[in-house]
Amino acid sequence: MINLHGITEDEIKEELLQLGEKSFRAQQILKWVYEKKVIEWEAMTDLNKEQRKKFASSFQLISLKLVRVQDSKDGETTKFLWELFDGKLVESVLIYSGDRRTVCVSSQVGCPARCAFCASGKEGLIRNLTSAEIVEQVYLIDHFLHEKGQRVSHVVFMGMGEPFENYDMVVKSIRLLIDPQRLNLSQRRITVSTVGVVEGIDRFTEEDLKVNLVLSLHAPNQRIRQKIIPYARKYSLEEILAAMLSFSKKTHRDLTYEYTLIAGINDAPEQAEELVHLLNDHPCTVNLIPYNPVVGLRLSRPEGERIEAFKSILEEGGIKATWRYTKGKDIAAACGQLALQHSLKTARKNSTELVIISKN
Ligand code: SAH
Repeated sequence: MINLHGITEDEIKEELLQLGEKSFRAQQILKWVYEKKVIEWEAMTDLNKEQRKKFASSFQLISLKLVRVQDSKDGETTKFLWELFDGKLVESVLIYSGDRRTVCVSSQVGCPARCAFCASGKEGLIRNLTSAEIVEQVYLIDHFLHEKGQRVSHVVFMGMGEPFENYDMVVKSIRLLIDPQRLNLSQRRITVSTVGVVEGIDRFTEEDLKVNLVLSLHAPNQRIRQKIIPYARKYSLEEILAAMLSFSKKTHRDLTYEYTLIAGINDAPEQAEELVHLLNDHPCTVNLIPYNPVVGLRLSRPEGERIEAFKSILEEGGIKATWRYTKGKDIAAACGQLALQHSLKTARKNSTELVIISKN
């Protein structure tokens, strides 16, 4: 069965024609699903009984099953654990910040990058998500917010996985998320974060998209980077930064570099100075993220003073820097730190069905 969330309007139309139906039904169905937030064929009253039956056996409306929802104690994040059709699990995080409602989506089950400080890549890559599975994470959270009169405003590809190792599905999902007939998200409110897959950055530069691109830099030189990011052996820092700069020039967008500060590894004042030189001709902001402890890893986050000192050196060197307090720490829901801490058995025990009310 084809999942409606993962295919374009033209693809829906093709399917409809094969079913002997008129192509205008595509808009009609999308309107029910996205505008009226109806996910049962039975409720689509302008389709006759036979059509509803036919569509129900041809198009899937929901494939993710919500097995767990958890709010952080500070109320600033909510974590969603989803079971996929094959029993695999992925997570998404909803981050509340002022009027913003940001969904941090996963693009893969597991991750091939296996960064030393990240929980998501511990088991390596398990499988890619489909465009439908990516879009559905946002769609269902939008549903969840709809009940409170709110909606998703931003999407960041900072959950499990390396987006550029699932390039086609990630780009397709972005096109579907910005489709005016669907969630109609603004491109500028979508952010893709990469560990530095050069072919991916280059391809992304050529897309006609105005989406933000973030590089997980984490080190001021190739030597340190290789120590904490195995993927750094595949692509040199020099070629990655050149690709980022080309992206910025072509798209006229400023760049963001993520820098996870780990005590004794990449947080020394000299390293901040090296970073100033490295990024000297980049129109960028460096996002400093204190390492968030991951169970089983013997790494620690630097003291606040050390982070401040690092930040000051960057600023004195003319580089914009932000220090983001990591939200949702108590439920390990910080973006980029998604790992499955619960076996499916535990998850099912606490199972919460996402109740979606059909509106006519
Ligand atoms: N594969 C993509 C998306 C990863 S997640 C990428 O590498 O960019 C988003 C960010 O969270 C990345 O910068 C990642 O390196 C960072 N991150 C992962 N684990 C972390 C941890 N334990 N503490 C702080 N940041 C972490």
